[in-house]
Amino acid sequence: MSRVYNFSAGPAVLPEEVLKEAAAEMLDYNGSGMSVMEMSHRSKWFEEIIKTAEQDLRDLMNIPDNYKVLFLQGGASQQFAMIPMNLMKNGVADYIITGQWAKKAFNEAKKYGNAKAVASSEDKTYSYIPDVSDLNIDDDADYVYICENNTIYGTKYHTLPNTKGKTLVSDVSSCFLSEPVDVEKYGIIYGGVQKNIGPAGVVIVIIREDLIPSDDEIDEKVPTMLRYKTHSDNDSLFNTPPAYGIYICGKVFKWLKGKGGLEAMKEHNEKKAKILYDYLDESKMFKGTVVKEDRSLMNVPFVTGDKELDAKFVEEATKAGFVNLKGHRTVGGMRASIYNAMPIEGVEKLVEFMKKFEKENA
Ligand SMILES: *Cc1c(COP(=O)(O)O)cnc(C)c1O
Repeated sequence: MSRVYNFSAGPAVLPEEVLKEAAAEMLDYNGSGMSVMEMSHRSKWFEEIIKTAEQDLRDLMNIPDNYKVLFLQGGASQQFAMIPMNLMKNGVADYIITGQWAKKAFNEAKKYGNAKAVASSEDKTYSYIPDVSDLNIDDDADYVYICENNTIYGTKYHTLPNTKGKTLVSDVSSCFLSEPVDVEKYGIIYGGVQKNIGPAGVVIVIIREDLIPSDDEIDEKVPTMLRYKTHSDNDSLFNTPPAYGIYICGKVFKWLKGKGGLEAMKEHNEKKAKILYDYLDESKMFKGTVVKEDRSLMNVPFVTGDKELDAKFVEEATKAGFVNLKGHRTVGGMRASIYNAMPIEGVEKLVEFMKKFEKENA
């Protein structure tokens, strides 16, 4: 059996050590005589799994005690609705539109209240992060919303917006745990785990407690399952959680701790991304599509400028074991997603392959 180098944007590569451990525990988890998929979410084994996962995440991110950690379902996309439903007390929110995910969140919020776009980079196919130092934030805004790492376009905020004292809400799906963050700068940090943490089916929401509305404060029509309070009061066990996914996330948290935590991850990710960006900057054939100062460490889109050549590259790369490099249809070309679990040698070998391809097709 041979594993490929998987550059998928998501669901994406997971650490091999984690997959092997999960395989070894598949038939008998910790003496239970069953797999984690088969056990009650109220069992002592699962209780331990979810508690440990939460604690390890708290340790990794330095999450203060006044923040709740929720393991939910519905993906990041369900948060596009839950956020306005729970946070729009004044009915106003400001959105910064840096790509399709931010735009989808914005459109969802508009269904619920007065959502306004206060900045956008749509004019240049979202290839940069707009100036967010002095935005026209509404006095009544309940929150300011960003998508911190734009999976499709390959941009990342390297400075958070000046929210003028308003609560910051951030979708970190594709940069979750890729580097240290200061949780206290945010009201909500959330993300689907299938990009940089675990299997699809889990979304993690880190929310400051005072933002969770009580049943008196929230619109009575908001369904029980879409209230943060429901999940917060029940430690993510109001109903059956995505148990196997949480178990794998827990293993990834341990793996990250073993690697030295998020500082070490940042160093690893910077080193890894630099190999690819340096080559893109010197190549005569391949070009990065993002302005340099806003580049993501996780998603790297690039093009040759010639659609046929792009297609030829993707085809030959796939045959050579570098898979899922085709770019998003709105950007074209290629995209290499190089999440935490992508080893440095995966990027080194990809660049070697690109150099060879450039020489052969010059
Ligand atoms: C993938 C992605 C989403 C959508 O995630 P789902 O879990 O499929 O709903 C939202 N935001 C970002 C930044 C993403 O990368």
